[in-house]
Amino acid sequence: MTIQAVAGLLPDEIAERISPEPAFRARQVFKWIASGARDFDSMSNLPLALRASLKASLAVLSTRVLDSVKDADGTVKLQVGLADGYAVETVLLVDREGRKTACVSCQVGCPMGCAFCQTGHVGYARDLDAAEIVGQFYHLEDAVGRLDNIVYMGMGEPLLNLDAVRKSIAILTHPQGRALSRRRITVSTSGLSAGIRDLADNGPDVRLAVSLTVADPALRAELMPVTRSNPLGELREAIRHFAEKTGRRVTLEAALMAGVNTSRERARELADFARGLNVHVNLIPWNPVPTLPFSTPSAEETRRFLAELEALGVNATLRMRRGTSVAGACGQLGRGLGTARNAEPDDGLT
Ligand code: SAH
Ligand code: SF4
Repeated sequence: MTIQAVAGLLPDEIAERISPEPAFRARQVFKWIASGARDFDSMSNLPLALRASLKASLAVLSTRVLDSVKDADGTVKLQVGLADGYAVETVLLVDREGRKTACVSCQVGCPMGCAFCQTGHVGYARDLDAAEIVGQFYHLEDAVGRLDNIVYMGMGEPLLNLDAVRKSIAILTHPQGRALSRRRITVSTSGLSAGIRDLADNGPDVRLAVSLTVADPALRAELMPVTRSNPLGELREAIRHFAEKTGRRVTLEAALMAGVNTSRERARELADFARGLNVHVNLIPWNPVPTLPFSTPSAEETRRFLAELEALGVNATLRMRRGTSVAGACGQLGRGLGTARNAEPDDGLT
């Protein structure tokens, strides 16, 4: 049974649920949740009778925090339990300037099967709904205070669950709620061309990151099976379309694996792919996943690859590794979740 959680509803939808209460009551509820109320009793400007009827029929959130771990670099990873017993992970990343970014999951596991990614190996169970996505953001804010950014870079492929991702963005950016700026939101995809075009044409107008990893078609197909149904040429055109339509620079991400995608030839191919596109390349040294047959490149290997890209005129940066000690870094999510399902619905993970 799914709990109907108000956190996944827009003010108009809340108004429908509490009709014939006036619409401003729905806006009050919406605002309370965005500002941290986690139960209806604390919504002190609502009439007692309304609070009671809300409590009887709805929940504020459908998720709860099962576990929380903190890294010395400020990274916090939460295990978030869903009503049906599954769990997902959400991570707080803190950058050098102290900006806080929530990295949220949009699916339980992931069906894309990227060879180098932990999440790709735990399998896929189901999509999250908007309340479950927004809930992760609110749980993190409850734990660490106000967040600056949100990236859809946790478990799952956002463009396979675009309706719920859109709804969660509509909720978090709503002027009467959390009012997060769309500039502070990034959706990261493994490279689904049709989804990128859909986002460009139909919004919301958020930032886009594409996990290119490598620009050699055969190697990419091996590492990222999505390449077979979304060839690199089409992907490149979809990225061009997005950048032109939105006026936003797209981030190309590349997880770097020692001896796999760091050679001079790979740098040249990446530069050819990037040339003529409004893109920025973000290199991420591969985060170790003990069961996978890859290794992290040395600082020297990474530095050389970055230098080669720069020499070829590519706008590239190296992303600092964060959260590796709590396995909260990119691609490490899902470890310890097993099949991502608890033995008993609503039991805490042990
Ligand atoms: N599914 C989406 C978003 C989640 S993955 C996507 O693939 O874009 C987030 C990022 O982590 C992707 O860029 C992915 O390529 C990268 N990644 C996956 N496994 C990794 C690992 N072990 N080390 C470093 N980055 C990894
Ligand atoms: Fe899924 Fe992204 Fe991991 Fe690929 S890298 S398996 S798309 S989460």
